[in-house]
Amino acid sequence: MFLKGKRAVITGSTSGIGLGIARALAAEGAAVVLNGFGDADAIAAILHELSAMSGADAMHVPADLMQRSGVEALMAAAGEVDILVNNAGMQHVSPVDEFPPEKWDAIIALNLTAAFDTSRLAIPHMKAAGWGRIINTASAHSLVASPFKAAYVAAKHGIAGLTKTLALELAQFGTTVNCISPGYVWTPLVENQIPDTMKARGMTREQVMNDVLLAKQPTKKFVQVEEVAALALFLCRDEAQNINGANYSIDGGWTAE
Ligand code: NAD
Repeated sequence: MFLKGKRAVITGSTSGIGLGIARALAAEGAAVVLNGFGDADAIAAILHELSAMSGADAMHVPADLMQRSGVEALMAAAGEVDILVNNAGMQHVSPVDEFPPEKWDAIIALNLTAAFDTSRLAIPHMKAAGWGRIINTASAHSLVASPFKAAYVAAKHGIAGLTKTLALELAQFGTTVNCISPGYVWTPLVENQIPDTMKARGMTREQVMNDVLLAKQPTKKFVQVEEVAALALFLCRDEAQNINGANYSIDGGWTAE
């Protein structure tokens, strides 16, 4: 258990990729701090599972990271953090001239600004300890665009830039900063964008699945949450200490085109 004694905050970890990463870190002994929304009983069961796995604490802070005060509440409750995974994110699919400005603000706040705020609050301890890991869940959309996703693509390109900047700033403090860029992973975030994509493109559900989502991925398969989690876990290992400022694609070849 190589993460015994380490404390990890994973934002947006009550579901999907974040929960997968929390499970992988807990399985190696990390005390995990979950964040995100969901059914209280289901979250309690997850916390029980995670602390049984890790032999360490597992806690949940349901802070809304669209608000700076929510980020501050999360980081205050978490205490000294060794591993920070900025993962919380949301999507909205709409032509840009119909894109609701409040959706733009919300996506930039959650997918980008929250990562700046968690990082600035976590970094002093990492610098003092001489060890830290920051892992950002970016996206294939940090490298390439798709129509109707203006805010998401802008935020994800932004987090790729933030990753590189922090990597340079922390390089001499035993702390690495990297991002992982999945293609389509079958989670509620993807499932929930199907109705709006059907509307924006005038397609059926099957057409959206095959002609929009899987059309991007040469493998014609969704990426699995566990595959993303395994890479995040590797980035926490000492063998990964010189992997810094990287943007790792897990997209079945999408961005190779
Ligand atoms: P998901 O919808 O399954 O999970 C999102 C998590 O964020 C949940 O725990 C949710 O409660 C939490 N959350 C939502 N709004 C929040 C808020 N205001 N404050 C705090 N937490 C909030 O999504 P996912 O697919 O697992 O996505 C996780 C990350 O991976 C996102 O950043 C997403 O952009 C990125 N990503 C997903 C895919 C994909 O295909 N699913 C691909 C590339 C990147």
